[in-house]
Amino acid sequence: MLEQVRPELQRFYPPEPDGGSVVAYLWAKTVHCTNPACGAEIPLLAHRWLSHRAGKTPVYYRLLPQADRSLDAQVVEGVPRGENPSEGTTARGTARCLHCPQTLSSDEVKAQFKATQDGRLMLAVALIRLTDRRVSFRAVTETDRATYEQARNALDEAGLLPMMTRS
Ligand SMILES: [Zn+2]
Repeated sequence: MLEQVRPELQRFYPPEPDGGSVVAYLWAKTVHCTNPACGAEIPLLAHRWLSHRAGKTPVYYRLLPQADRSLDAQVVEGVPRGENPSEGTTARGTARCLHCPQTLSSDEVKAQFKATQDGRLMLAVALIRLTDRRVSFRAVTETDRATYEQARNALDEAGLLPMMTRS
Protein backbone atom coordinates (compact mmCIF):
# COMPACT_ATOMS: atom_id res chain seq x y z
CA MET A 1 0.00 0.00 0.00
CA LEU A 2 2.74 2.47 0.95
CA GLU A 3 4.62 1.70 -2.27
CA GLN A 4 1.56 2.72 -4.26
CA VAL A 5 1.07 5.90 -2.31
CA ARG A 6 4.66 7.16 -2.38
CA PRO A 7 5.06 7.85 -6.13
CA GLU A 8 1.71 9.57 -6.01
CA LEU A 9 2.97 11.82 -3.21
CA GLN A 10 6.20 12.73 -4.99
CA ARG A 11 4.46 15.28 -7.15
CA PHE A 12 3.53 17.23 -4.05
CA TYR A 13 7.08 17.61 -2.82
CA PRO A 14 9.04 20.16 -4.82
CA PRO A 15 12.72 19.15 -5.20
CA GLU A 16 15.09 20.79 -2.72
CA PRO A 17 17.75 23.20 -4.05
CA ASP A 18 20.60 20.74 -3.26
CA GLY A 19 18.85 17.84 -4.97
CA GLY A 20 17.62 16.27 -1.76
CA SER A 21 14.05 15.32 -1.06
CA VAL A 22 11.71 15.55 1.89
CA VAL A 23 11.51 12.31 3.87
CA ALA A 24 9.54 13.48 6.89
CA TYR A 25 7.74 16.35 8.49
CA LEU A 26 8.51 16.38 12.18
CA TRP A 27 5.58 17.20 14.41
CA ALA A 28 5.03 17.78 18.09
CA LYS A 29 1.80 17.11 19.91
CA THR A 30 0.47 20.28 21.48
CA VAL A 31 -1.83 21.43 24.26
CA HIS A 32 -3.14 24.92 24.97
CA CYS A 33 -1.92 27.15 27.73
CA THR A 34 -4.52 27.35 30.51
CA ASN A 35 -3.68 30.95 31.41
CA PRO A 36 -6.85 32.78 30.21
CA ALA A 37 -4.74 35.76 29.13
CA CYS A 38 -2.54 33.50 26.98
CA GLY A 39 -4.04 30.35 25.43
CA ALA A 40 -0.96 29.76 23.27
CA GLU A 41 -0.16 26.39 21.76
CA ILE A 42 2.48 24.48 23.74
CA PRO A 43 4.42 21.78 21.87
CA LEU A 44 5.14 18.81 24.14
CA LEU A 45 8.86 18.25 23.84
CA ALA A 46 11.14 16.26 26.10
CA HIS A 47 14.15 17.94 24.42
CA ARG A 48 14.98 19.98 21.31
CA TRP A 49 17.65 17.84 19.67
CA LEU A 50 17.22 16.78 16.05
CA SER A 51 20.56 15.00 15.84
CA HIS A 52 22.98 14.47 18.69
CA ARG A 53 25.51 11.78 17.92
CA ALA A 54 29.17 11.46 18.90
CA GLY A 55 31.51 12.73 16.21
CA LYS A 56 28.80 14.54 14.25
CA THR A 57 27.75 18.18 14.19
CA PRO A 58 24.77 18.46 16.52
CA VAL A 59 21.49 19.82 15.18
CA TYR A 60 18.72 21.21 17.35
CA TYR A 61 15.87 23.63 17.11
CA ARG A 62 15.23 26.88 18.82
CA LEU A 63 11.64 27.96 19.56
CA LEU A 64 11.12 31.70 19.37
CA PRO A 65 7.84 33.08 20.77
CA GLN A 66 6.21 35.52 18.32
CA ALA A 67 3.99 38.52 19.10
CA ASP A 68 0.89 36.65 17.81
CA ARG A 69 1.62 33.82 20.32
CA SER A 70 2.81 31.44 17.63
CA LEU A 71 6.28 29.87 17.75
CA ASP A 72 8.98 30.28 15.14
CA ALA A 73 11.03 27.05 15.02
CA GLN A 74 14.59 27.63 13.78
CA VAL A 75 16.89 24.74 12.92
CA VAL A 76 20.39 25.34 14.29
CA GLU A 77 23.50 23.36 13.33
CA GLY A 78 26.46 23.42 15.71
CA VAL A 79 27.28 23.35 19.39
CA PRO A 80 24.73 25.38 21.37
CA ARG A 81 26.08 28.37 23.28
CA GLY A 82 24.05 29.80 26.14
CA GLU A 83 21.13 27.44 25.60
CA ASN A 84 20.37 23.87 26.52
CA PRO A 85 18.57 21.79 23.84
CA SER A 86 18.28 18.94 26.35
CA GLU A 87 15.65 21.11 27.97
CA GLY A 88 12.23 20.82 26.32
CA THR A 89 8.81 21.91 27.52
CA THR A 90 7.76 18.80 29.43
CA ALA A 91 8.91 17.13 32.60
CA ARG A 92 6.98 14.31 34.30
CA GLY A 93 3.86 15.04 32.23
CA THR A 94 3.72 18.78 32.84
CA ALA A 95 3.84 21.37 30.01
CA ARG A 96 5.62 24.70 30.25
CA CYS A 97 4.30 27.61 28.17
CA LEU A 98 6.94 29.49 26.18
CA HIS A 99 4.90 32.72 26.06
CA CYS A 100 3.96 33.20 29.70
CA PRO A 101 5.06 31.81 33.11
CA GLN A 102 2.28 29.15 33.15
CA THR A 103 3.10 25.47 33.63
CA LEU A 104 0.26 22.99 33.15
CA SER A 105 0.08 20.10 35.61
CA SER A 106 0.16 16.57 34.22
CA ASP A 107 -3.57 16.30 35.06
CA GLU A 108 -4.32 19.41 32.99
CA VAL A 109 -2.31 18.00 30.08
CA LYS A 110 -4.07 14.62 30.34
CA ALA A 111 -7.48 16.33 30.48
CA GLN A 112 -6.84 18.09 27.15
CA PHE A 113 -5.88 14.79 25.49
CA LYS A 114 -8.95 13.11 26.94
CA ALA A 115 -11.17 15.91 25.59
CA THR A 116 -9.25 15.74 22.25
CA GLN A 117 -8.32 19.40 22.62
CA ASP A 118 -4.73 18.54 21.82
CA GLY A 119 -3.23 19.53 18.48
CA ARG A 120 -0.08 19.19 16.40
CA LEU A 121 2.62 21.59 15.33
CA MET A 122 5.04 21.06 12.43
CA LEU A 123 8.51 21.83 13.79
CA ALA A 124 11.07 20.83 11.18
CA VAL A 125 11.55 19.05 7.87
CA ALA A 126 13.90 16.08 7.41
CA LEU A 127 15.59 15.75 4.02
CA ILE A 128 17.70 13.07 2.40
CA ARG A 129 20.28 13.80 -0.26
CA LEU A 130 19.99 11.09 -2.86
CA THR A 131 23.70 11.10 -3.85
CA ASP A 132 25.09 10.09 -0.44
CA ARG A 133 21.93 9.36 1.57
CA ARG A 134 22.89 12.06 4.06
CA VAL A 135 20.01 13.21 6.25
CA SER A 136 19.66 16.90 7.06
CA PHE A 137 17.06 19.16 8.59
CA ARG A 138 15.64 22.57 7.82
CA ALA A 139 12.98 24.91 9.15
CA VAL A 140 9.37 24.61 8.00
CA THR A 141 8.28 27.01 5.24
CA GLU A 142 4.84 28.15 4.09
CA THR A 143 5.38 25.90 1.04
CA ASP A 144 5.78 22.88 3.36
CA ARG A 145 2.49 23.65 5.08
CA ALA A 146 0.71 24.09 1.74
CA THR A 147 2.33 20.91 0.37
CA TYR A 148 1.28 18.92 3.38
CA GLU A 149 -2.31 20.19 3.08
CA GLN A 150 -2.42 19.28 -0.63
CA ALA A 151 -1.07 15.78 0.02
CA ARG A 152 -3.46 15.34 2.91
CA ASN A 153 -6.45 16.42 0.83
CA ALA A 154 -5.46 14.10 -2.02
CA LEU A 155 -5.11 11.16 0.38
CA ASP A 156 -8.39 12.10 1.99
CA GLU A 157 -10.12 11.98 -1.40
CA ALA A 158 -8.50 8.61 -2.05
CA GLY A 159 -9.73 7.38 1.33
CA LEU A 160 -6.17 6.99 2.63
CA LEU A 161 -6.10 9.69 5.28
CA PRO A 162 -5.49 7.41 8.28
CA MET A 163 -2.04 6.53 6.90
CA MET A 164 -0.97 10.15 7.01
CA THR A 165 -2.46 11.15 10.31
CA ARG A 166 -1.00 8.27 12.29
CA SER A 167 1.91 9.71 14.23
ZN1 LIG B 1 0.86 30.79 28.20
